[in-house]
Amino acid sequence: AEFYQKLPKVELHAHLNGSVSSETIQKLLSRKPHLNIKHSMTAIGKGQRRTLDECFEVFKVIHKLVDTEEDILMVATDVIREFAADGVKYLELRSTPREEKETRLTKANYVETVIKAIQQCKEEDLDIDVRFLIAIDRRNGTDVAMETVKLAEQYMLSSEGLVVGLDLSGDPTVGHGKDLLPALQRAKNCGLKLSLHLSEVPSQLEETDLLLHLPPDRIGHGTFLHPEVGGSQSLVDKVVKNNIPLELCLTSNVKGQTVASYADHHFKYWYQLGHPTVICTDDKGVFCTDLSHEYQVAASTFGLSHEDMWRISNQAIDCIFATEAVKQQLKQKWNDLHPQVL
Ligand code: 5GP
Repeated sequence: AEFYQKLPKVELHAHLNGSVSSETIQKLLSRKPHLNIKHSMTAIGKGQRRTLDECFEVFKVIHKLVDTEEDILMVATDVIREFAADGVKYLELRSTPREEKETRLTKANYVETVIKAIQQCKEEDLDIDVRFLIAIDRRNGTDVAMETVKLAEQYMLSSEGLVVGLDLSGDPTVGHGKDLLPALQRAKNCGLKLSLHLSEVPSQLEETDLLLHLPPDRIGHGTFLHPEVGGSQSLVDKVVKNNIPLELCLTSNVKGQTVASYADHHFKYWYQLGHPTVICTDDKGVFCTDLSHEYQVAASTFGLSHEDMWRISNQAIDCIFATEAVKQQLKQKWNDLHPQVL
């Protein structure tokens, strides 16, 4: 376990409000006792599983607890510190800008507060480089998607490189990608990198095929892309041809029941293909995990050595959305740490 903690890591798929730790939830609960929310409603513990639908209910509970600028600032700084303490050297945090009438929170405030948290953490001299992906919740439809892209565009230009891209997430059973295509196309044209949740559930083949034409810069999950699970060879070929890295979240998929067990996880398929895959947490708070645990589970499930895991973490650097210069800095950091870790 100590090896995985010390291993320098890159986290590319972390939803802010799904990453809130039990300690931070406790602080939020004591701020808002009137909501009558129980701690157990905010996480899925060891050995527990939920349907994907039930997971989305958990996010709704957390959103009730996180509805002011003050909450967002605390949640984001806590999450960043926790990733840093777990040996994450580069983090792309994603979050859906929310507006809350009651607390007069606007989407612009929301984005600015996450940026402020990242800047505050920089001043703390934590050994972590943090970037921000602005998320579209597919449930909210075409107009909100376009509005979110405009917001992301604006902050990409004004945040000194902190906002690097756009995420498409939210309940995969709601809405259709074709309605979001113009917004995603616009984002791509203006230089935002795209990470899209694709084929997270079965029977999204048509949508996946459509969105792969963009093409996205990374894919979240891609659980049902390959032919062995009802996907198709032509989808796999498109992903391979465009060399689109996959963000894979083992515990999240097992607890959300889209994958039957760790051994059945599609990590195996893509790793054996030699395709770029990045091990990620998804929602470390909700799924009670951290990135070193995810690395450890992947190693023990698929019989990978410490050298293999080093290579996996090192190759994740190639998949980040920040600039080439940042990649070079990270490569240098890995080289410097190598003798201490392996
Ligand atoms: P937030 O964007 O509020 O910071 O983080 C929570 C949100 O992330 C959820 O409401 C949902 O839209 C998205 N999310 C978190 N985990 C998952 C996941 O496993 N699959 C999908 N499709 N969306 C997720």
